[in-house]
Amino acid sequence: MYTAVVVGAGVGGLAISGALARAGWRVSLLDQSDRLRADPAALLLWPNALAALKSLGLGHGMGEISTQVPAAGVRRPDGQWLSRPAPGGVTPVVVHSEDLHDTLIAGLGARIDIQTGIRVRQVHNRPGERAAVGDGKNVWDADLIVAADGADSFIRSRLAPQSLAVSSGYAAWRAVIPWYRAPKLPDDAPLAGETLGGGYRFQAASLGNRGSAGASSRGGIYWTATVAGAARPEPPATQLTLLRRWFAGWHAPIGDLLAATEPDDLSQQDGRQLRPLPAELAFPCGVGGFVLLGDAAHAMPHHLTQGAGLALEDAATLRMLVGTGGAGLDAAMSAYSAQRRPRIAQVVRQTQRVGAILAPRGALLTRARERAFGALAPRVLDKAADLVADWTPPY
Ligand SMILES: Cc1cc2nc3c(=O)[nH]c(=O)nc-3n(C[C@H](O)[C@H](O)[C@H](O)COP(=O)(O)OP(=O)(O)OC[C@H]3O[C@@H](n4cnc5c(N)ncnc54)[C@H](O)[C@@H]3O)c2cc1C
Repeated sequence: MYTAVVVGAGVGGLAISGALARAGWRVSLLDQSDRLRADPAALLLWPNALAALKSLGLGHGMGEISTQVPAAGVRRPDGQWLSRPAPGGVTPVVVHSEDLHDTLIAGLGARIDIQTGIRVRQVHNRPGERAAVGDGKNVWDADLIVAADGADSFIRSRLAPQSLAVSSGYAAWRAVIPWYRAPKLPDDAPLAGETLGGGYRFQAASLGNRGSAGASSRGGIYWTATVAGAARPEPPATQLTLLRRWFAGWHAPIGDLLAATEPDDLSQQDGRQLRPLPAELAFPCGVGGFVLLGDAAHAMPHHLTQGAGLALEDAATLRMLVGTGGAGLDAAMSAYSAQRRPRIAQVVRQTQRVGAILAPRGALLTRARERAFGALAPRVLDKAADLVADWTPPY
């Protein structure tokens, strides 16, 4: 029986741990947190992410916990349309992070050895010896070690030190306002879409319908606010005051949503991106060696909301290539790197193009964007969304 150590229990680590265990591997999952917990708030999952979940055998319950996001346009802070939704355009579903987390945890099965409170700070990759990681007290070795330890991956810092996680120049906040205190919205104004100001962005989507749990068992209104600059060090209550000030005067219902948000709903994230991307995602030693997966391999700005989707794609691809192990594990690792690198580079490229439009700095560039938006949106934004959502697992 082949063995794997997976470091990091985010979306990517949970997905690959369950997939390998279901394929008959003996898996140890290590995480530095004191317990396994969900990502904050909610996630948009595009068709590529749903295809990856299906390929991992986790697609069946998704219809019950996710809500289709209606096609929506882009507006200015005063509510004027910059672009209307393109007919037939691809749209994501929105899912509460805790619902997705429950699905991934249920997919782990009973046989995985889960160890929390373990912070990996040693990497052993000597040629010919099995790959191993340690926390200073214990060492874990395995036929394959999956580094799913996020944007600031310690393992990547040892294996691909030239690839650094740097700030993407934005701080972002996410929140889900539960239905019981969400503001009432007019029936003719479905909640979806994006509003762009100079250096500021706001997006919102409904998790199910008011008055019922809806499609999600944890319904409510999900919103994301992105602001140019560094993460704010103040406590959440002060951050919320700042958000209400920055977005004051923006079209309805943004002010109502921020007013209904409580500090405990709020989760701030410092946008991180890898510069440059790692040249390789597989590092052979011993039997299979190490692979990078998820943000550890390709953290990028969240303009296309694809980070978790790509982590699921990585997991589905790796699972497909390694199968039940066998003689060609090292070849499978090289194939993983060869297949994932161009796909990741494609998504990064599209993210950069979209970022130049969604997040220009300064009044001049913002005004230029507004003038050109009607022509740019279909050419760049819709094309980018279509391109990155169009992925199928390798069979
Ligand atoms: C504002 C915002 C909105 C976003 N919206 C979306 C969206 O709508 N859709 C989407 O697909 N993506 C979205 N993303 C991106 C997405 O959240 C991430 O890409 C995804 O969560 C990455 O998952 P991961 O498993 O690779 O890493 P992580 O979720 O970061 O998990 C890494 C895990 O590794 C553990 N760890 C770290 N270091 C160590 C160590 N040394 N030892 C042991 N354990 C360690 C951590 O505790 C953590 O549990 C968004 C990101 C932001 C910032």
